[in-house]
Amino acid sequence: MDNMVSLQSYREVTPPGSVDLIYHLAERLKNRTLLHVNSTRLGGGVAEMLLRLVPFFNELEIPTRWEIIEGTPLFYQTTKSFHNALQGQAQLITSQMYEEYIKVNKKNARKISFDADFTVIHDPQPAGFIYKKPRKAKWLWRCHIDISRPQRKVWNFLKEYVSRYDGAIFSLPNFAQKLSIPQFLMYPSIDPLSDKNRELTEEEINGVLTQYAIPRDKPIILQVSRFDRFKDPLGVIEAYRIVKKYNACRLILAGGSATDDPEGLQVLHDVQEAARQDEDIIILDLPPDANSVINALQRAATVILQKSTKEGFGLTVAEAMWKGKPVIGGAVGGITVQIVYGRTGFTVNSVEGCAYRIRYLLNNQEAAARIGENAKEYTRRNFLITRHLSDYLALMVFFLQG
Ligand code: UDP
Repeated sequence: MDNMVSLQSYREVTPPGSVDLIYHLAERLKNRTLLHVNSTRLGGGVAEMLLRLVPFFNELEIPTRWEIIEGTPLFYQTTKSFHNALQGQAQLITSQMYEEYIKVNKKNARKISFDADFTVIHDPQPAGFIYKKPRKAKWLWRCHIDISRPQRKVWNFLKEYVSRYDGAIFSLPNFAQKLSIPQFLMYPSIDPLSDKNRELTEEEINGVLTQYAIPRDKPIILQVSRFDRFKDPLGVIEAYRIVKKYNACRLILAGGSATDDPEGLQVLHDVQEAARQDEDIIILDLPPDANSVINALQRAATVILQKSTKEGFGLTVAEAMWKGKPVIGGAVGGITVQIVYGRTGFTVNSVEGCAYRIRYLLNNQEAAARIGENAKEYTRRNFLITRHLSDYLALMVFFLQG
């Protein structure tokens, strides 16, 4: 189990007033109950955030449960296709798949108690639970994916459910949809005191690198991501190959898979193939709870990449920025608000652009350090869990009054 620390400890790392604001808002919500539902307890950004947020709601005396929807292989294949289609990729979704989605939602809904005052349903997988909403409860659909250009057919299917919620929450203004219900903007967040992000000593960092036999004789370029095509790991390798012609460096692709993502193994296999015969490329297939390992890798890296081609919001980007690292991200989705071009990192649109910016950062240590510092302060102000908690609490207070 990851370490949990009391909210009071966050006063030292968050902007002044953040913790007090949380207590003030929570006062209004005491003993109201909250339920979060998503599709996995481990792997990916949503699980990562719920793991940290849920205990805080409880600490604030807002009794909070976290349930997951459990599916069949066909269900996960379907929801992954939904996910890809909503992020704009052409997908063939058969009527059998739509039926499986409905069936699994119904079956799971029977096992879960929906008596909470507030329910937050995350992403498309459990969106179908809406027909269990009690009359007085407030239900929010929290969408974490880049839904700016969804495939119409899938979105129309989902919209039937979404429009029955009391509100929808998106990570970026341009993910908002034509909906009759209120829509809210909420940036995701990272927890600065979790094992993934807390300060580490040099010994701790070196211990991890020794454990994984990673020498520190060359600058490390790192991407941490589930093995997913939208994260563009093959593009990362191509960019590295260009850089490698001029600069000594080592590339680490650290990833794993989420239990609700059936495509991960194939992508990992393709990445391993592409990296063959280059001993400066290290591919780490990590277990989903390797938090301290990821923390140490991010702290050991010189440049961190998140070369996604679609991204609701890159938690890995915020994690890297919080560690004072210069990040190069794909110019897509949430990454475009996390990275302020040239100030808190660089966004890129191509393999060549990515290679160019890696070389720039490797060759300009002062600029890299300045960008890293800006990135840390920007993350402190915008992307920490305390801000996220107050966003949720404010929304709940809003609905309580409505
Ligand atoms: N992550 C992890 N192990 C891995 C790959 C990713 O713990 O092998 C974590 C990563 O550090 C981040 C989250 O999973 O906290 C990924 O969130 P992000 O928003 O970057 O992407 P998502 O996977 O949700 O698309």
